[in-house]
Amino acid sequence: MTTDLIDLRSDTVTRPDAEMRRAMAEAEVGDDVFGEDPTVLTLQEEAAAAMGTAAALFVPSGTMGNQIALHLLARPGSEVICEARSHIVHFEMGAMAALSGLLPRVIAADDGLLDPAAVEALVVPPVSYRARTGLIAVENSHNFAGGTVYERGHLEAVLAVARRHRLPVHFDGARVWNAAAALGTTPAALTAGFESVQFCLSKGLGAPVGSLLCGGGDFIAEARRVRKMFGGGMRQVGVIAAAGLVALRQGPARLPEDQANAALLARAVAELPGIVLDPAKVRTNILIFRLTPELFGGATPPEGLTAAFLARLKEHGVLASPVSRDLARMVTHRDAPRPRILEAIERLRRMAGALA
Ligand SMILES: *Cc1c(COP(=O)(O)O)cnc(C)c1O
Repeated sequence: MTTDLIDLRSDTVTRPDAEMRRAMAEAEVGDDVFGEDPTVLTLQEEAAAAMGTAAALFVPSGTMGNQIALHLLARPGSEVICEARSHIVHFEMGAMAALSGLLPRVIAADDGLLDPAAVEALVVPPVSYRARTGLIAVENSHNFAGGTVYERGHLEAVLAVARRHRLPVHFDGARVWNAAAALGTTPAALTAGFESVQFCLSKGLGAPVGSLLCGGGDFIAEARRVRKMFGGGMRQVGVIAAAGLVALRQGPARLPEDQANAALLARAVAELPGIVLDPAKVRTNILIFRLTPELFGGATPPEGLTAAFLARLKEHGVLASPVSRDLARMVTHRDAPRPRILEAIERLRRMAGALA
């Protein structure tokens, strides 16, 4: 058992670096519920500029950013067309139903990306005896499909369906900076034409806390009201926004490094006996791979493939996270630079050797 664990469970595990901590200590602050925190105002301006929107709102979590958008864009009792494993369905505690009276209408896609024709087929026609379609939501990159990305042309096809039916579209861009880096474009170019965009500072960008909800001026003014209603009004929160500003200014340039590390790790994982992964499908900083009994010499362990794999891997000093009974996930990030990834690969090989 090694104690020096390499934590690849998520890109949320990064700790604020020295520059972030210094910025936090020195941040100018005010009461942000009164709109008087200068550091938050700067962060919101820079976030809006990066997304090409008129305004932005600092929120404590990506979940809150997404749920404020859903609450504002769709009426209670209406349907939200989204992918089956999307974060808004899978990891937001049923919030769209609990907080906004919305019903997810899901499309399952292996790669997590909505097929525009499938979206169009689910739009409810304007009849008096069916719930309406209220909203379409995309996730880019898609977390639980393995960090997959929508190309801009694909997004435009989804937007075209939305326009034909006069539907708003929300962009869950928790990792939009990763998607943009993979595609060699900017978040603003990817998100143009969407009603709202949410992105996280606390994932690959490396901040300890926070997300931004971006959109038009009137939309963000309403979003401020809903943020307060959901309990997300914060006071001298410039101390946190200051770390977010460092993340926003410096984080994006580092992401190609995480993505190169993910590609390297994917090639190594794909070579292990009993693990199935197509490295060509790893486009950003997330790897999701299938475990087979072969990894354990041919027999499924009693605790199940994923649980057994994660436990053995931890004994060898690497942390990954569970996706399903036979799928596991690893995410690269700032606190696992290249030498740590090379060490993780060594440990994976040792683990596989010991199990065979
Ligand atoms: C992480 C994430 C969020 C936001 O999660 P929080 O933990 O609430 O900040 C939203 N969408 C996606 C796709 C995510 O991966």
